Amino acid sequence: MMEKVFSHLIDQLMLLPGIGKKTAQRLGFYILKMETGAARKIGQAIIDVKEKILLCKSCSNIAERDLCSICANPGRDSQKILVVEEPNILYAIEKTGEYRGLYHVLHGTYSPVSDGRMPERTIQGLVERLKNGGITEVIIATSPNIDGEATALYLAHLIRPSGTKVTRIACGIPVGADLEYADEVTLAKSLGGRREM
Ligand SMILES: [Zn+2]
Repeated sequence: MMEKVFSHLIDQLMLLPGIGKKTAQRLGFYILKMETGAARKIGQAIIDVKEKILLCKSCSNIAERDLCSICANPGRDSQKILVVEEPNILYAIEKTGEYRGLYHVLHGTYSPVSDGRMPERTIQGLVERLKNGGITEVIIATSPNIDGEATALYLAHLIRPSGTKVTRIACGIPVGADLEYADEVTLAKSLGGRREM
């Protein structure tokens, strides 16, 4: 039998994705051996992201102010919007250094086959941004799986009447894959080879 306080930590760590019981125990024992100050920093960092991180008022990327650091950067090409499912894909694309435009984060996909859910608030936000004008191209970089494709088609259908060019990132990403796991070179290539929808 494990001590209650310790097994509570293990249970909490196991709530994180990819952390099974063994890993949780290894981390738990590691935390136990850490300096109190260092452990406190980890705890505080977790609380800080929950209390201090907001969603950007324009693109829904994570932000510390009204606008995220990308939207607030005057050096970005404000005529292009690249649509991603989640912020981690935005950061993967930023790492390629191949894209200088703005983003729009959906926080989900339109899933007509599985449960019909739809990230309505962020899709509406995108429509509003297009209404404000000045956007010449919307690049859709949702994953090449069923939900990602359905989302791309739905958005293209929604955007096209506004006259804005809609493009989709090219293959190079295996069908059915999750963009989160694509490497930088593959992502850069699929961005370069995007095609009009
Ligand atoms: Zn933003």
